[in-house]
Amino acid sequence: MFHVDRIADLRAACDGARADGRRVAVVPTMGFLHDGHRSLMRAARAAADYVVVTIFVNPLQFGANEDLDRYPRDLAGDLALCEAEGIDCVFSPSVAEMYPRSPLTTVHVAELTDDLCGAARPTHFDGVTTVVAKLFAIVGPCAAFFGRKDAQQLAVVTRMADDLNLPVEVVGCPIVREADGLAMSSRNAYLAAEDRTAALVLSRALRGAADAIIAGARDPRALERAVATTVGAEPRVALEYVEVRDAHELSRMVVLDGSVLIAIAARVGATRLIDNVVVRIDDAGVTADLGVVAAVERP
Ligand code: AMP
Repeated sequence: MFHVDRIADLRAACDGARADGRRVAVVPTMGFLHDGHRSLMRAARAAADYVVVTIFVNPLQFGANEDLDRYPRDLAGDLALCEAEGIDCVFSPSVAEMYPRSPLTTVHVAELTDDLCGAARPTHFDGVTTVVAKLFAIVGPCAAFFGRKDAQQLAVVTRMADDLNLPVEVVGCPIVREADGLAMSSRNAYLAAEDRTAALVLSRALRGAADAIIAGARDPRALERAVATTVGAEPRVALEYVEVRDAHELSRMVVLDGSVLIAIAARVGATRLIDNVVVRIDDAGVTADLGVVAAVERP
């Protein structure tokens, strides 16, 4: 496995792979890798011949009072995991390498970033799109794999690539959950035992909403109220939002149809968690995509 921390080296590696006729895929991450990241790597591996994982805790996407300084890091463990997954190249740049000076050029995707997580984190998505645009510019033509756990991020990055004609196919991958339903997240490492148990209310509430739609519920506001009531019964969990949206446009829905995203953000103790379910409603019927449990066996 090739491990680089210089932009020029990553660019040369990707250019070289394409010159050899290999298809390049990239999996952007902030490290502290878990089975969710691993499932993205496997999807990338299945679609491409040269798989790059990027590991960068991007300061630009953290707000002033957020967890940048204490974000969990384990580069040695991450490299071992990537090696075991047969990754071709890991890029783990320093902040100085990515931002030698404070950037005067940033990428802003309007509207899609206004609410949901954008409401509580007003600078977050500009940080995400700016760093992802830089990574896309460095890696070059490729497929890029993102988790549906960050549903708004996936919609925003997809729209950015489309609006800017970036030579990147953005691919969304299922949410990977712990056996008890908790969506995997590097931030789960922050959770004390009681908070971790309390956090299960999020996936339980989403499952309930999906079941209600399968049973015929079609009123988005009533579904939001039901989820809020379920989450509200857990005193350790403070709901930030629950929203029923079109999964692609993130627009509000009056009557449920097509791909319906039910997205939650909540604070469990000091930790902010997000989760969601997508329910597809079409002529063939109603199917819920809550993701997968323990999708990948460890090598
Ligand atoms: P992060 O390291 O948290 O920035 O995440 C890097 C990528 O992994 C993003 O595309 C996330 O959506 C994805 N990801 C994180 N957690 C999960 C999960 N539980 N299931 C699937 N994808 C995930």
